[in-house]
Amino acid sequence: MAGILDPVMLRITELKLPLDHPDEALREAIVQRLGISDDQLLDFTLFKRSYDARKKNTELLFIYTIDLTASDEAALLHKFADDHNITPAPDVSYKPVGQAPAELAERPIVVGFGPCGIFAGLLLAQMGFKPIILERGKEVRQRTKDTWGLWRKSVLNPESNVQFGEGGAGTFSDGKLYSQIKDPKHHGRKVLHEFVKAGAPDEILYVNKPHIGTFRLTGMVENMRQQIEAMGGEVRFEQKVTDLISEGEQLTGVVLESGEQLQSRHVVLALGHSARDTFRMLHARGVFMEAKPFSIGFRIEHPQTLIDQARLGKYAGHPKLGAADYKLVYHAKNGRSVYSFCMCPGGTVVAATSEPGRVVTNGMSQYSRNERNANSGIVVGITPEQDYPGGPLAGIELQERLESLAYELGGSNYQAPAQLVGDFVAGRRPAHWAVSNPHTSRA
Ligand SMILES: Cc1cc2nc3c(=O)[nH]c(=O)nc-3n(C[C@H](O)[C@H](O)[C@H](O)COP(=O)(O)OP(=O)(O)OC[C@H]3O[C@@H](n4cnc5c(N)ncnc54)[C@H](O)[C@@H]3O)c2cc1C
Repeated sequence: MAGILDPVMLRITELKLPLDHPDEALREAIVQRLGISDDQLLDFTLFKRSYDARKKNTELLFIYTIDLTASDEAALLHKFADDHNITPAPDVSYKPVGQAPAELAERPIVVGFGPCGIFAGLLLAQMGFKPIILERGKEVRQRTKDTWGLWRKSVLNPESNVQFGEGGAGTFSDGKLYSQIKDPKHHGRKVLHEFVKAGAPDEILYVNKPHIGTFRLTGMVENMRQQIEAMGGEVRFEQKVTDLISEGEQLTGVVLESGEQLQSRHVVLALGHSARDTFRMLHARGVFMEAKPFSIGFRIEHPQTLIDQARLGKYAGHPKLGAADYKLVYHAKNGRSVYSFCMCPGGTVVAATSEPGRVVTNGMSQYSRNERNANSGIVVGITPEQDYPGGPLAGIELQERLESLAYELGGSNYQAPAQLVGDFVAGRRPAHWAVSNPHTSRA
């Protein structure tokens, strides 16, 4: 089958084939669709593969988007000028925004080594800027041990956990790689290519809802750090930034917890959303901040087989489809919307807290997605105007209050309180709060 081909010349969309088609059938279908001979098709690559399971009682098909080169593309484009499913392929290659001068006067600083800090660091390194990256948590192997300490033994290390350390919250994330944000410059493609280079499976380049799985992410994060270092960058662990240095309006450097000062006028703050102490420091230093809307809710679990049946009917359990996902939205009369978020097929609910005496849950799964339960966040959008007036940090205070209450309700040992959906819907308080997923993790 085809290799990775960027940029390409022609794109075919909406090419449909049965789920069980042999590999060769794809090439045959392209040749037939274009009305060319086999030797005129020079190369092709899968850009996207999806399926539409919404219509019941119809055959489920794979729907392909294919990028290809053929021997006379101009003639083909002319022939299919009125066919919107055969077009020139867009150029999705990444164009660096700059290049470091030969003599680098000042190295940029990146604070945080989560997905945002990793990519800021990687791109700066690729452009020759030799960034210095400061991460408050530990390197990924040590951090993994600390994170399992919380999941298995209820011991929390506030500086090395699901949120903090090499790879940020991304390391123990589920590794779902899709977003509904528009991407006209194809930056997402660059991210996917870098992930494949760092050890993600090739299929993330074409499956509709790419997913890496928690356990593969650890090695990938380490690999990306090594690439940054090989290009002259530096990643320093257990180095928390606790203050900023400025001259007038100009930022000139950062202060570390150890008291060490690092000078640079170029600082990327890639802090994620859990570094509440750092947000408070920035606010106290007069950095402009505003409250943003966010969503709150709970995690819901079902047996995965139930979701597979509901979504895929007779195709449930088909090896090429894997565990099914779902997405639900409900627009209530009062103007609020409730929706499912971060649905993890065949996954696990995990404790994701980084602060003592508080509980936050999240969801993750392995690449195989073969755990017994599906889980998903069910959340409602809230806004500063309606729900937490009181300035830029009022949303954080609300989160802290709810997380402390969840901790108490779960038995004050980092287990999350759990109840049956039936009780919740009926508004019944359970006689005893259960804890979720006692057989797998403490969450
Ligand atoms: C269990 C779980 C599952 C998830 N699943 C998904 C998923 O499937 N798909 C998805 O898209 N998203 C998922 N997410 C969310 C995703 O992980 C985050 O959106 C993403 O990690 C945010 O990236 P970031 O780089 O902005 O911040 P973070 O990943 O939070 O990284 C910030 C880093 O900055 C460091 N830092 C903070 N303050 C300082 C300081 N003062 N000094 C030095 N270092 C500092 C932190 O230690 C941290 O490592 C999941 C999250 C969790 C916890």
